[in-house]
Amino acid sequence: ERLVATAADREDQAVEAALRPRDLGEFIGQSRVREQLDLVLRAARARGATADHVLLSGAPGLGKTTLSMIIAAEMGAPIRVTSGPAIQHAGDLAAILSSLGEGEVLFLDEIHRMSRPAEEMLYMAMEDFRVDVVVGKGPGATAIPLELPPFTLVGATTRAGLLPPPLRDRFGFTGHMEYYEPAELQRVVHRSAGLLGVEVTAEGAAEIAGRSRGTPRIANRLLRRVRDWAQVRGDGVVTHEAAVSALAVYEVDERGLDRLDRAVLGALLRLFGGGPVGVATLAVAVGEERETVEEVAEPFLVREGLLARTPRGRVATPAAWRHLGLTPPAQAPG
Ligand code: ADP
Repeated sequence: ERLVATAADREDQAVEAALRPRDLGEFIGQSRVREQLDLVLRAARARGATADHVLLSGAPGLGKTTLSMIIAAEMGAPIRVTSGPAIQHAGDLAAILSSLGEGEVLFLDEIHRMSRPAEEMLYMAMEDFRVDVVVGKGPGATAIPLELPPFTLVGATTRAGLLPPPLRDRFGFTGHMEYYEPAELQRVVHRSAGLLGVEVTAEGAAEIAGRSRGTPRIANRLLRRVRDWAQVRGDGVVTHEAAVSALAVYEVDERGLDRLDRAVLGALLRLFGGGPVGVATLAVAVGEERETVEEVAEPFLVREGLLARTPRGRVATPAAWRHLGLTPPAQAPG
């Protein structure tokens, strides 16, 4: 398990409920999405109507689940949580939809991973608040139309572009979640520390924020590991020194790279002179699967401007040499 993984691990799942902001005012950062959502929800409330369907797109750990719960809270409505992979058959979706109460919020995480028949059923449910339930099999099968009370679908996806256009078009509003700025993550750390009953200094929070890869979930996880260090080896306070020492133990560096990220970058620089080199070759050099290098390490390195994917292979940027404290080879003449 990587400390800088974006997906929630067991411990995250256990504490995240306690750390979730409960309303839009408590939700840190994402000012654009927050303002847009605020308008959508206020207007719906003023009309006494159910809010439009909302699509939230963005990387894991940026607060999509949290926002869906805030939408329900702001509308004073209950929420049902499910995910695309959990809905294998259209019947699974029909069962969920037909049990929704009026105005209820349905949160559908990883909506791009729903099965095709379920997706088609969802189109009709979103647009007409109706589903056709097929009863029986073969030539005797009949479709029984079923009216649904108005509900609000909140869909979450890592990339809005992955959704088929007919599905995308049925959302009244799409919120694009961005990675968080260090100052915003610092506020996340302060807030979470307060809820966990941990004392944290401004420098301690800043150090954790800078290593959290723009992601509140990672910030909260690093905070817990630094808290452990502070308890066992310090005086219980999350200081700058506690953050630096604790995260050295877990091999998360000052920019948020972990051992795998640095291994990939190090091989690219030391063995291949900074590239270009094919990803398969790079993967062999670090003893990892190609998919791990491509999907786990590279996206963050690319985002950080340390590595570039070119048609000829992977290339290190000057920032990569600087980050690992190495000197790039002299430019070949001509
Ligand atoms: P996602 O659904 O996008 O994977 P979550 O909503 O589960 O992300 O958020 C992951 C964790 O990060 C939660 O513990 C949540 O409390 C925290 N978090 C996310 N966004 C914010 C925010 N804007 N302010 C404070 N905490 C946040």
